[in-house]
Amino acid sequence: MYKKILFDPKVNGPGKKVFKLSRSKIDLFLKCPRCFYLDRRLGVSQPASYPFTLNSAVDHLLKKEFDIYRQLGRPHPLMEKYNIKAKPFLHKDLETWRHNFTGIQFIFEPANFLVYGAIDDLWVDDNGNLLVVDYKATSKDSEVNLDADWQVAYKNQMEIYQWLLSKNKFKVSSTGYFVYANGLRSPSTFDACLKFDMQIIPYQGDYSWVDKTLLEINKILINDSLPDGAKDCEYCSYRHQAIEKEQSFKKEEDKNSVTLF
Ligand code: SF4
Repeated sequence: MYKKILFDPKVNGPGKKVFKLSRSKIDLFLKCPRCFYLDRRLGVSQPASYPFTLNSAVDHLLKKEFDIYRQLGRPHPLMEKYNIKAKPFLHKDLETWRHNFTGIQFIFEPANFLVYGAIDDLWVDDNGNLLVVDYKATSKDSEVNLDADWQVAYKNQMEIYQWLLSKNKFKVSSTGYFVYANGLRSPSTFDACLKFDMQIIPYQGDYSWVDKTLLEINKILINDSLPDGAKDCEYCSYRHQAIEKEQSFKKEEDKNSVTLF
């Protein structure tokens, strides 16, 4: 079984043993420092969600398709449709950078964190700048966009990849792309076939927040006290309500058992 490696201030920190920190845990910190602390210091994680297997299948197929054009050294037709002057980037380490447990890595020395994240794809423009690309799959009747509050996580994700690449001494464009596959609900029958509308959404990233956030994470991890939780969190309000109800229920139970004897 997968063993969690937790941050231990006696073992980890500057000048001590390096601590691995994935980009998804940075995202957890941004959502709620308390939940992050529970997870990385105390070993209590939020329950895992179900695997999004259909989304993974779309990712997998898109990777295969873009890889064909990578080998040909040509832009994918969708890139031409959107007039993107770039082509899929060919690099010997691309498969490592795409792998969940390795990803692209950098040791952030001020906190001694090994920061890593697995990218979907990279394109390269005519000036040799790398463009971070993330594949997304959804199914909605309206046009896909990046306007929902929760999609800030997508933007953070892209900016962390841009940060990682720049720390690895690559020239990185602030423009990244989301390749969106939108499963159509309009066909009259299924016929064991999902059809998709494909769209590319550009995004201007700014990763200037990453260093500062890593230092904040370090400050919280070396501390022996729980940081505040996120406001308006459904999980926490569920936890608190459940505890309150259980305690008052238990009191009633105890009272009734005392009356009986
Ligand atoms: S506020 Fe939500 S995210 Fe934060 S500790 Fe509570 S359950 Fe976790």
